[in-house]
Amino acid sequence: MDNLQLKSCPKCGASVEELLPIETGMKVALASAGIADLPPSVCANCYDNYTSKVSQGVKLRIEAETREKNKVMLWKNRVNLIKQARQLMQQKAYSEAAVSYEKYLRILEVIYSKKKGELSPEIFNNSKKSKEITVIASVYWDLMRIYDMSPKYGNRMAESADKLAKFIVFSSIYPDIVKRAESFQRSAKNPAIVKHFLRQTRTNRPRCFIATAAFEYPGAPEVTVLRQFRDKQLKTRFWGRKCVYFYYRLSPRVAQWIDRSSVLKTIARFLLKKLAKWLAY
Ligand SMILES: [Zn+2]
Repeated sequence: MDNLQLKSCPKCGASVEELLPIETGMKVALASAGIADLPPSVCANCYDNYTSKVSQGVKLRIEAETREKNKVMLWKNRVNLIKQARQLMQQKAYSEAAVSYEKYLRILEVIYSKKKGELSPEIFNNSKKSKEITVIASVYWDLMRIYDMSPKYGNRMAESADKLAKFIVFSSIYPDIVKRAESFQRSAKNPAIVKHFLRQTRTNRPRCFIATAAFEYPGAPEVTVLRQFRDKQLKTRFWGRKCVYFYYRLSPRVAQWIDRSSVLKTIARFLLKKLAKWLAY
């Protein structure tokens, strides 16, 4: 044993008889776990360390994949919950419907990593998600009316009304809901909350429905230009106000057509881009 030559581990510096090579497969696995700059070989101790990091990395990846899969399942399940809730509404099983609607809202909170009650329209500010806004608005509208049935749900009714006011201005069902809320106010057990909701929706002015449908989300720069034109040019002139009034009576229906057809969407987007460019000068 006198010819024993000790080697020094390039990783930890320990003197050992033997260094274990890190093979390509191991290198790849470590790289996917975020570990780079590997020496060609290390001591048995360091090798064990690396092995456990690989298995940890694999474990984390599986966990992340499971989480994603769960989200996909939840996302699909939310559609069923809405269907179920609407059926229950028709059967006048209101408290059961409320449970399904609340579950639907919890799912959205989980998917977008929000705390309870923290959903906001900004989360859905891209084209793929913006359709959800109308669904959410209709959910809060039903919840507001369900919670109105019992005085012990006053707080929940107020919360639903508050959310409804925030979401509805981004949705093409805005004029419809406002009209229905106006008549609901007369029969509601808690008319003060409905009244407050209507006041809020008037303060949060409605968006340009057609432009929003064409660009698929309210934050598009073209939409901003058109909105400014409406506020600065149209609303300050008599004929302009007439136009705006006429536009708001007509536009939700047009917006719905546009929403359903990708061809109309492309045409509307093209025309509005031209118009916005022209107005911007
Ligand atoms: Zn070592």
